[in-house]
Amino acid sequence: MSSKKKVIIIGAGPGGLTSAMILAYRGFDVTVYEKDNKVGGRNQEMEFDGFKFDVGPTFLMMKFVLDEVFEESGKNIDDYLKFKRLDPMYRLVFDSNTLDLSDNPNKKKEALLSKFGNTDGYDKFLKREKKRFDVMYPCLQKSYHRFATYFEKELIRAFPRLSLTRNMFGELGKYFKSDDEKISFTFQSKYLGMSPWECPAAFLIIPYIEHHFGIYHVMGGLSEISKAMEKVAKENGAKIELNKPVKELIIEKGAVKGVVLENGQKQLADETIINADFAYAMTKLAGKHTKKYTAKKMNKKKFSCSTFMLYLGLDKIYKNVPHHNIIFSKDYKTYVNNIFRKHTLSDKDLSIYVRNASINDDQLAPAGKSGLYVLIPVPNHRGKIDWKSITASLRQEAINTISNKLNIPDLKNHIEAEKIITPDDWQNKHNVYIGATFNLAHTISQMLYMRPHNKFEEFENCYLVGGGTHPGSGLPTIYESGRISSNLISRKYKVQFETKNHYVK
Ligand SMILES: Cc1cc2nc3c(=O)[nH]c(=O)nc-3n(C[C@H](O)[C@H](O)[C@H](O)COP(=O)(O)OP(=O)(O)OC[C@H]3O[C@@H](n4cnc5c(N)ncnc54)[C@H](O)[C@@H]3O)c2cc1C
Repeated sequence: MSSKKKVIIIGAGPGGLTSAMILAYRGFDVTVYEKDNKVGGRNQEMEFDGFKFDVGPTFLMMKFVLDEVFEESGKNIDDYLKFKRLDPMYRLVFDSNTLDLSDNPNKKKEALLSKFGNTDGYDKFLKREKKRFDVMYPCLQKSYHRFATYFEKELIRAFPRLSLTRNMFGELGKYFKSDDEKISFTFQSKYLGMSPWECPAAFLIIPYIEHHFGIYHVMGGLSEISKAMEKVAKENGAKIELNKPVKELIIEKGAVKGVVLENGQKQLADETIINADFAYAMTKLAGKHTKKYTAKKMNKKKFSCSTFMLYLGLDKIYKNVPHHNIIFSKDYKTYVNNIFRKHTLSDKDLSIYVRNASINDDQLAPAGKSGLYVLIPVPNHRGKIDWKSITASLRQEAINTISNKLNIPDLKNHIEAEKIITPDDWQNKHNVYIGATFNLAHTISQMLYMRPHNKFEEFENCYLVGGGTHPGSGLPTIYESGRISSNLISRKYKVQFETKNHYVK
């Protein structure tokens, strides 16, 4: 580069931090403007009364992508973070069945055999989904800012394995017979905030990824990843400006020239990367300049569900409760359909995810105490639920359900501190459009070329990173979005770079 090109990044979430570390390492003059007083966005830490929680992500999958992002920033991840591969991966609690799925293939097959009577389906699942993953993963690493990408060899090779007309649950009929077994391999659609009866079958690669590559915890919590990324970005020369909300994009003749901060300052740049929630950014920061993503058009798009969160500080550790627990409603299909189709909540038959990380990590609570993280999938703001009026009863119902299903009847007596996040908070405090925590839904019509592009299609000098762009929501894919946009910018300025790809088929 003849002179250092200036890059502004709006938001220090996982997507923005990935780009900041990589682009600063490649010699760009990077400044991140973050509205909060700390980095991480939805992957931020939350501390109160001596307890430390992850606000959002608790499952790290495809750890190798994060390793590569650190390497592409000139660093070794082991100098920054300590990981633990979890075994068991998780406990699944059905109405009349409980299944602990080990990370060990033999133990896992024993458990499946004893609960569901055969393991042939599991072997078939691993074999076929590996083939799907192997052809799909290269497609997720590409940019779809040109329609011609559809005709490149990676996508042509993957096309027959996309099962475009099928959903995850239906596709699993190829491997499993019982509904509980199918749910054990499709509840992962919730990671995208979608229903297994609507989520495209291609996303069966998510349970495959869990079973093949394992699930990791980061010691100190997954928010440590954000803090480590902030450190690397700064070491590489990026500036991270906290408490600096962006008010609007400066757009002239169809090109983004920089940003106006809430404090009135104008900041100009050669390139601007948007990491703030995409739909929020279009409706609030782009204003009248966008024709393609107006409020009216956003209203027609499909969005993920939201979540109701409880962060409970306990005066004891429940050693009998595993790290990850998924409790399914008695009538799981109705629960899911109510959220996604009717935008209502079966509030007397909840599905709940509970994380009890203190059994593996003593950095999250004072000695002898623990933090219980509780996530309930709920409708986004397209539903008409008055969250203020139902918060107390929903909290109570959740605590009763967890006590019964995880066999910890005295739970309510051991809560000494707590915080709650509702869809209102996601929308109003975290700037998440309609509180849809997992962004634009991952329907066929909102994927690849049809998802907002990494090189943003509407304005010049503007790039997108994060869950609202390609490849989609979830930490590894968000890191990929940061890499894709950084590579596009680097190529534009003819900056040489080396990429890392550790996955061996
Ligand atoms: C409850 C929950 C659980 C999840 N669990 C998992 C999991 O287990 N595993 C997984 O892989 N993924 C999970 N995800 C999904 C996803 O990985 C995370 O949401 C991820 O943090 C999203 O990253 P992002 O970069 O898209 O955006 P964000 O994390 O939302 O970052 C955007 C940043 O932009 C900032 N910002 C917004 N507006 C402005 C403005 N005007 N000016 C300046 N800054 C602004 C925000 O403060 C934020 O820091 C979960 C998500 C949620 C919500």
